Amino acid sequence: MSNFVFPPLATPSAAVRGTDARYAVSRIFCVGRNYADHAREMGADPTREPPFYFMKPASALTPSGATVPYPTVTKNYHFEMELVLVIGAPVFKVTPEAARAAIWGYAPGLDMTRRDLQAEAKAAGRPWDTAKGFDQSAILGEIVRVADVGYLERGAITLAVNGSTKQQGDLADMIWNPAEIVSNLSHLYRLHPGDLIYTGTPAGVGAVLPGDVLTGRIDAVGEIQLTVGQPE
Ligand code: MN
Repeated sequence: MSNFVFPPLATPSAAVRGTDARYAVSRIFCVGRNYADHAREMGADPTREPPFYFMKPASALTPSGATVPYPTVTKNYHFEMELVLVIGAPVFKVTPEAARAAIWGYAPGLDMTRRDLQAEAKAAGRPWDTAKGFDQSAILGEIVRVADVGYLERGAITLAVNGSTKQQGDLADMIWNPAEIVSNLSHLYRLHPGDLIYTGTPAGVGAVLPGDVLTGRIDAVGEIQLTVGQPE
């Protein structure tokens, strides 16, 4: 038997449509910019950048439907609606064709962001951890299996705040498609089941306040919801 001075924390996990079994999560990767219109709204040139990544701790995973307190320190708490890839096989240094076969499922995700801390970090050349990897910053809806919905090439991705549409894009507008992302990332890390990849957000990101209700939707994948609570 194992012997710990403190009991280990529960393994973060996500619901899978059509089964009671859950998907255990060990790592959360995020693509920095992956839609040209969002890259432009953040002041970057979308034609020149290869994909880049940051991570959130698995402990930041929060299920759709949650109410999360308005985070500390920030005055500019932003939503980013994203398609999340769910890895279902070990891959290392693979081609896009081989990478595609490792995508086991999809989920709707919200990459919640302290935008003001991110801007400060960018200006100072510092890491993004406190802007991106804070508590309850990785919201995730139910996983759907590729075996049930097929591989996604296109489809509307939208985000509304209190019923008013703020983001409206299409998966076909990704600069790097899911297979290319998994292939590229597999040259940087040995990927395996337990890895989630948030694939970037379309234009229209913005701030939310306590009391706001966010509803995101991706065609063929499903919905995600988040309520912003009072600060703690
Ligand atoms: Mn993002």
